[in-house]
Amino acid sequence: MADPKGFLSTPRESPTRRPVDVRIRDWHEVYTEFGQPALERQAGRCMDCGIPFCHQGCPLGNLIPEWNDLVWRHDWQEAAQRLHATNNFPEFTGRLCPAPCESACVLGINADPVTIKQVEVEIIDRAWAEGWVAAQPPASAALAAGRRVAVIGSGPAGLAAAQQLSRAGHAVTVYERADRPGGLLRYGIPEFKLEKRQLDRRIAQMRAEGTEFRCGVQVGVDVTTAELRASCDAIVLAGGATVPRDLPVPGRELAGIHQAMEYLPLANRVVAAAAERSASGAPGDEVAEPAISAHGKDVVIIGGGDTGADCLGTAHRQGAASVTQLEIMPRPPDSRPGQQPWPTYPMIYRVSGAHEEGGQRVFAVSTQEFRGDAAGRVSGLRLVEVKFSAGRFEPLPGTERELPCQLVLLALGFTGAERGPLLDGLGVDFDARGNVSRDGAYATSVPGVFVAGDMGRGQSLIVWAIAEGRSAAAAADQYLTGESVLPVAIPPTARSLS
Ligand SMILES: Cc1cc2nc3c(=O)[nH]c(=O)nc-3n(C[C@H](O)[C@H](O)[C@H](O)COP(=O)(O)OP(=O)(O)OC[C@H]3O[C@@H](n4cnc5c(N)ncnc54)[C@H](O)[C@@H]3O)c2cc1C
Ligand code: SF4
Repeated sequence: MADPKGFLSTPRESPTRRPVDVRIRDWHEVYTEFGQPALERQAGRCMDCGIPFCHQGCPLGNLIPEWNDLVWRHDWQEAAQRLHATNNFPEFTGRLCPAPCESACVLGINADPVTIKQVEVEIIDRAWAEGWVAAQPPASAALAAGRRVAVIGSGPAGLAAAQQLSRAGHAVTVYERADRPGGLLRYGIPEFKLEKRQLDRRIAQMRAEGTEFRCGVQVGVDVTTAELRASCDAIVLAGGATVPRDLPVPGRELAGIHQAMEYLPLANRVVAAAAERSASGAPGDEVAEPAISAHGKDVVIIGGGDTGADCLGTAHRQGAASVTQLEIMPRPPDSRPGQQPWPTYPMIYRVSGAHEEGGQRVFAVSTQEFRGDAAGRVSGLRLVEVKFSAGRFEPLPGTERELPCQLVLLALGFTGAERGPLLDGLGVDFDARGNVSRDGAYATSVPGVFVAGDMGRGQSLIVWAIAEGRSAAAAADQYLTGESVLPVAIPPTARSLS
């Protein structure tokens, strides 16, 4: 156990964010480090419960009490090893996970939970800084017995599956249609939440372990599924849930209305280009204006989730005149509601870093139509307040109003896997929600083809994608060799505590 009285003597400290007026002028990450002594005290608050519910809260089954204890005892190197025992990429989850583990922390029943996520990220940041994170290429005996595996998609699910399979001795090629690997980590999530150097050093580690990356290759088009099947012994599909939900109301066709995933990748690309110029010492490290920019515009974001918050932070950094985020659901309560008791992950009012930076959040409203100017560009939208009754949102008469806007970003979620030459070519089956269906061992309806992450689960979280990637790798390894020592984090049917 960490400090036996830590939870009594030490109050929880939350991670701090850089001042708004400073961070809004750059694209660097928002959070600052605790530093070693303060973090060790926070880790000391862990009670090492008989039944650590945080394990249940974390889809990866991270060994949270073990690394809390090790950090409290100053053994950071061993803590990093225990962290990597269950999680290939703690620097991603430690920055981006909504931390359901903290909602499930036993201390949270009647006090503030342990700041688990901060402990996670500072362990891995220190491990990188100290040089403790090294490539782990497979032993030559494992390599000799290895088979050829293709992983389609290089988001967190594909990366986790590829790393596990490479380490088990298989010759793994990751195919990615974008120009660089990372999936949504690269072109969805903005730099101020995850600096891409975090991603690049993991990719370098994976290359050193033998994983091959073929970027700019769309499987089903640049490589046919028949060619792929002929060149490998197993396939892991990790292509994400990329089909965005639309808003088919009058005026949707006006210029200036875009899906979030049309807007964010362009912003990420210009930031990456500036970071690269700066790193190479080339002149001109300012961030260029992307083809879709919020600069000087009144921006309306439709959708109140994480993707919407990423658009919000991006729009502010691009110099938007105003930003309004609309959400159809009512404002959630400030504290855990009775019907979502501990240890579930409750729907409460949360203020992300992007929300703290400004903009207006409007709840319980629905967009009725977009208005345009003479040039066919969006100039405003008409909304109405709604109330949820009998399973549907009812407009409240007399509450209609118009918001001026010159840029509208749709952040309404994703409807499932993309139908097209990849999935049609392979001939996999789908479930009722439009995801690629799989059995209890991540196998699709096509022998030798497995599926992990959002493509099988539907739109989800990075922690689930990594857990699924690890588990699908174990299933593929078992299929190829008849046995596997790779760990299975979760069955495909596992769901969050809610
Ligand atoms: C804007 C945004 C912000 C988010 N923020 C968070 C967050 O803060 N925290 C969190 O936990 N989750 C967040 N999420 C969700 C999270 O990013 C996803 O759940 C996760 O990335 C899913 O991982 P994946 O590997 O299954 O798929 P993805 O990350 O979507 O990767 C799939 C990859 O497959 C590639 N691909 C698809 N088809 C082909 C093909 N035919 N050939 C080659 N390549 C192909 C795609 O180009 C893509 O790169 C966010 C999502 C979005 C959209
Ligand atoms: S991955 Fe997420 S749920 Fe798991 S320990 Fe880290 S922050 Fe908690």
